[in-house]
Amino acid sequence: MINCESRSVVVIGGGPAGLSAAIAAFDAGAKDVLVLERDTRLGGILNQCIHNGFGLTLFKSELTGPEYAARLIDMASERGIECRLNTTVVSVAPDKTITCVSEEGVFSITADAIVLTCGCRERPRGAIGIAGARCAGVYTAGTAQKLVNIMGYMAGRECVILGSGDIGLIMARRMTLQGAKVRAVLEIMPRASGLMRNVVQCLNDYDIPLMTSHTVVDVLSQGGRVSGVVAAKVDNDMRPIAGSEFLLPCDTLLLSVGLIPETELAREAGIGLHRVTGGAEVDDTLMSNIDGIFCAGNMLHVHDLADYACLESEVAGKRAAEYAINGGVTRGAFTSVECGDGIRYAVPMKILSSGSGSITFTARPSAEYALGRICIEADGEEIYSKREAGIRPATMLRYVLNSAQSDKLRSASRICIKVRE
Ligand SMILES: Cc1cc2nc3c(=O)[nH]c(=O)nc-3n(C[C@H](O)[C@H](O)[C@H](O)COP(=O)(O)OP(=O)(O)OC[C@H]3O[C@@H](n4cnc5c(N)ncnc54)[C@H](O)[C@@H]3O)c2cc1C
Repeated sequence: MINCESRSVVVIGGGPAGLSAAIAAFDAGAKDVLVLERDTRLGGILNQCIHNGFGLTLFKSELTGPEYAARLIDMASERGIECRLNTTVVSVAPDKTITCVSEEGVFSITADAIVLTCGCRERPRGAIGIAGARCAGVYTAGTAQKLVNIMGYMAGRECVILGSGDIGLIMARRMTLQGAKVRAVLEIMPRASGLMRNVVQCLNDYDIPLMTSHTVVDVLSQGGRVSGVVAAKVDNDMRPIAGSEFLLPCDTLLLSVGLIPETELAREAGIGLHRVTGGAEVDDTLMSNIDGIFCAGNMLHVHDLADYACLESEVAGKRAAEYAINGGVTRGAFTSVECGDGIRYAVPMKILSSGSGSITFTARPSAEYALGRICIEADGEEIYSKREAGIRPATMLRYVLNSAQSDKLRSASRICIKVRE
């Protein structure tokens, strides 16, 4: 193993979250920031998202994924931030030694602070246990997206899509535009799980049926390739209803059944994971339980919009730079954030009593509300409240608290975020 350079801040993953963290770390005074990316180019998942709809919050314009990535890449290169491509991080130790593999071989880097921004992975067929033939023609929607948008291969001619997450909805439109027939999008829940704008723009505009409370119970094959799927209606407990089965002939089944934060490196480093998000558990500086290792982007929790992944990562990058420049921080006591009515999870999960600056909350609703009020309470006192229309589990909520509100949270022994009707 080649040993061993050292850096103040190392960012692992060169997607939008990683680039934003690196830029923020540099702007906060860390001058020897390094980004490690296993792919041949920067930009992460954005490179295969050739549709528009990115950047409305961050850049105030509607961009495609590659255009959005290009803006961040330019900002990193204007600052002279070093980004090493074709470099896979294989382990991160709690003492912040990073082991990498590249064409040069295996080498290690020590860092004063690390930001993990490794993105997420798609839930595969094995994770949802669909019965039937193990044949060609079953892809995750993201794999099909890469085949079509980057490699120039059609994944199939007649598709059924299982799951109405955003990738599935976007791929329903992409496959249609490329000349395929999308027979239906099946969703086991009673509502679409992706953003409403994607339901309208990707399904309704192309007359693609969305069949809620439906799932696939069997995959049929002929000559080693999918020849159809058997769909069925499900009951309130999401169990297929006997007698409701019907055949949908197709040669391709695309799965859009959830994303899971990529936590291999985090787990090996001893980072505690959150039981709901599956990502790291962090305090309000986005630091994990391991001193000096920060987490952000889809690796922390799966975001609906790249803008929010970037804004979150700016916090992680800035805090990582402060940690590196000050030679660490003393963390002391913290209060855990409780999720009350209508909230599935909130990030950060802990508020440090010794912290400073404003706190940003991201929360995922657990239910639909036509109109609700988001409340953040410190020791039972409502210190922040906002009315929101159209609260849905598919849409993340994000609130930036001012300094006075943040200070109240820091001195509280009980913190709760909830929805009131
Ligand atoms: C199909 C699809 C459509 C979307 N559409 C929209 C949209 O219309 N509008 C919008 O705002 N958002 C959209 N999003 C969401 C947005 O793209 C994500 O929120 C954002 O890309 C997350 O950024 P990230 O940097 O956390 O992850 P990623 O973009 O996944 O980047 C992670 C990076 O880490 C690298 N990496 C991982 N492990 C290692 C390792 N061990 N060593 C080195 N490098 C590593 C990966 O190669 C990758 O480059 C979409 C997402 C998808 C998947």
